[in-house]
Amino acid sequence: MIAHFDLDAFYASVAQRDDPSLRGKPLAVSGSSRRAVVLTASYEARPFGVRSAMPLYRARELCAELIVVPPDFARYREASRACFAIFESGARALEGLSLDEAFVDIATDDIAAATSYAVAVRERIRREVGLSASAGVSTQKMVAKIACDEAKPDGLKSIPPGSEAAYLAPMPVGKLPGIGPKTQVRLAAERIERIGQVAELSEAELFRLFGRWGRELRELARGNDTRNVVADRETRSVSSETTFEYDVRDIAELRRVLAELAVDVAERLAAHRLRGTTIGIKLKRDDFTIVARQTTVAQPTSERATIEAAANRCLERADLGEHAVRLLGVRVATLTEELTEQISMFEGPPA
Ligand SMILES: [Mg+2]
Repeated sequence: MIAHFDLDAFYASVAQRDDPSLRGKPLAVSGSSRRAVVLTASYEARPFGVRSAMPLYRARELCAELIVVPPDFARYREASRACFAIFESGARALEGLSLDEAFVDIATDDIAAATSYAVAVRERIRREVGLSASAGVSTQKMVAKIACDEAKPDGLKSIPPGSEAAYLAPMPVGKLPGIGPKTQVRLAAERIERIGQVAELSEAELFRLFGRWGRELRELARGNDTRNVVADRETRSVSSETTFEYDVRDIAELRRVLAELAVDVAERLAAHRLRGTTIGIKLKRDDFTIVARQTTVAQPTSERATIEAAANRCLERADLGEHAVRLLGVRVATLTEELTEQISMFEGPPA
C-alpha cells in the first residue's frame, strides 16, 4: 500500500501556527514585487477564489482584506524535516515531492494496517509539529494522491484494493495529471467529462486528443498506475514543478515561477545535504508536448542563484513556438553528498 501525504496550505498554515493573529484570516504567502505570484493561500482566502500560482494583484482584486506575508523557507524546511521524519517511521520507502508532500511505501498489503499508519502519522504531525496533513491511501500513487486531494483539508481517505478504476471513473477528467481547464473545455466539447470515458478511448482517439501522452493517460484512467515509490535515499535528482491553473505565455511570468521553483529545489538540496552539476527545466506546452532542456555547471551546487540562472538559460533554449505553458519544473541532477554532514534528514534523530 502507498500513502500520499500533503500538508494543508503548508506555507500559510506555518504562518498561522506561528502568529495567532493570522489565524482564521484570509492569507496569501507571496513575494512583494508587483508581479509576484501567490505561493500558498490559506483556506480562509480560498472561498474568494484566491489560489496558488495566481498573480498577487489578481488575488488582491478577488479579496480586498487579503493579508500577504513573505515566505520563510527556513521555517518551512524545519517543519518539513519534522514531518518527513514522522512519515518515515514504519515506512519502507519515502519519496518527497516537495517540502510538504510525499509518497510513502507502507510495507503492508493490508488496507486496515495502512490506514492505521496514516491515522497515526496525521495525529503525530498535529501534536508534534502543530500542522494538519491530509492523506490518501491506495495500492497506487495517482489514486493515493487523488484520494488525498479529496480528503482535504485535514482528512484521510483510503481506497480499497480492486476498486481503483471504479473510484476514478465518475471523477472529472481534470483530476488526471496534465489535464488543465483549457483541455477540459476541449474535451467537454467532445462530451468527454469523466475519467471513466478516458479509460475507454480508442488508440486513435487518444492520440488525436493527447498526442503521445495519451496511452499513459488511459492506463492511469483505468487504475493501472504501476509506478513505485522511489526512496529519496536513492534519489538521483531533486526537482520541483508546478502546474498552472491558467496557461502562461509571458516569458517574464515563466521566469518568476522559475525563480520560485529554484528556491524550492535549492532548499530541498540543502535539506538533503546534496549538490548537483546538471540543472534542467521541464515544461509542458498546451499541446501536451513536453520540452526538456538541461545544462551543466562546473562546480556541484545547491545555490539558489546558480540554479535560477542555469534554469533561465535553459528556458531561453526551450522551443515554445506559439504555445502557452501549463506546467513548469526545475530539476538538479548528477548529485553528490556534502561531506560536512552525512546524516540524512530521513535517517531521523540520533537514537
Ligand atoms: Mg500541500
